Amino acid sequence: MIERVINKVDSTSGNILNINKSPYNIGSGDFEIKQDATGDGIADANSSVMTNGDNWDKLNGEINACKLCALCETRVNTVVGRGCKEASILFIGEGPGEQEDLRGLPFVGRAGLLLDLALAGLMFPEDAYYIANIVKCRPPGNRAPSDDEAEKCLPYLRRQTRLISPKIIICLGAVAVRHILGREHKITKIRGEWFERKGLSIMPTFHPAALLRDDNKKAYMWLDMKKALLRYNEINRRKSGG
Ligand code: URA
Repeated sequence: MIERVINKVDSTSGNILNINKSPYNIGSGDFEIKQDATGDGIADANSSVMTNGDNWDKLNGEINACKLCALCETRVNTVVGRGCKEASILFIGEGPGEQEDLRGLPFVGRAGLLLDLALAGLMFPEDAYYIANIVKCRPPGNRAPSDDEAEKCLPYLRRQTRLISPKIIICLGAVAVRHILGREHKITKIRGEWFERKGLSIMPTFHPAALLRDDNKKAYMWLDMKKALLRYNEINRRKSGG
């Protein structure tokens, strides 16, 4: 059933205060582009995005000061994202690892190197993408973030999404799939498939770290990334009237 989720978001913490459901909620509703506390309307990634006074400085400041879950106690740095803030493609991973925690940037370790190699190998334009994670702080020992940690952190990702206003989201791995498309989905079944939600084209692919463990997954990720680039090119052609 498709219905819309309307959340009130605390403007300082980014926390969800209240949830109403109306007829457009999609899937699990875990990752909707939601209305914020001013009640000025649903941000729609497809058309005019309502940022309602939000901006990157405010968001970065709130993330850097965040103490909403215990991950803040062990982090060295928060990891907000990297890439073009006007990008059409938003890649979403799981959470920072050791290198990311030390440097305050996502995907700068071994998995990141693989992701960068795929992006460069397929010649994704640098202004085409932004890279972020489900959680902004490193889970100790690189474990997957708990649902509770992810839920506390997701309002930040929603705000990033509203500010960027991408057309395409690529979920990197099972954790991103769980929180964006819903927990009923299995990455091995749905990788490479497009999900159309509120003007956003969303596709899951394997997490680059999974490719480090299993060579056989590399070809699939390559295919999926090619698909993403084709979709990006299509969108750009349409935008420029071609
Ligand atoms: N894995 C992720 O999911 N995100 C990172 O930033 C690094 C590794």
